[in-house]
Amino acid sequence: MASNYTGPVPKPTPETKPFWDAAKRRELALQFCLECGQYYFYPRPLCPQCLSRRVEWRRVSGRGKLHTFVVNHRPPRNFPTQTAFAIGIVELDEGPKLMSNIVGVEPDPQQLRCDMPVEVVFEDITDTITLPKFRPRA
Ligand SMILES: [Zn+2]
Repeated sequence: MASNYTGPVPKPTPETKPFWDAAKRRELALQFCLECGQYYFYPRPLCPQCLSRRVEWRRVSGRGKLHTFVVNHRPPRNFPTQTAFAIGIVELDEGPKLMSNIVGVEPDPQQLRCDMPVEVVFEDITDTITLPKFRPRA
């Protein structure tokens, strides 16, 4: 269940709560605009393409490709990690990009490459917060 994670914990807002609720169910969810038919991220009440409020949350595939990445060797302030880790921007199959950790692979530029296929995995960090992360997929 919850890991021994001791770093900062996301605080859901009314706009982001559906995202975190979905992650808790081990689902990745994005907002979808019913007016222009596009997904978008990060969560907000207006479609960033056409400014429509006719938007809804939908479960998405959790699959995408690694758009770009960095291997971080210095733990950020308040984060407990002491080892190198990979931060990536993932371009989801549905279009939007989001930033997360890339796991299940050595945080090494020899092991990571742009455009490599990735899929979402979920890590419970508290009883209520689950983080979506991404790992390489075959
Ligand atoms: Zn729209």
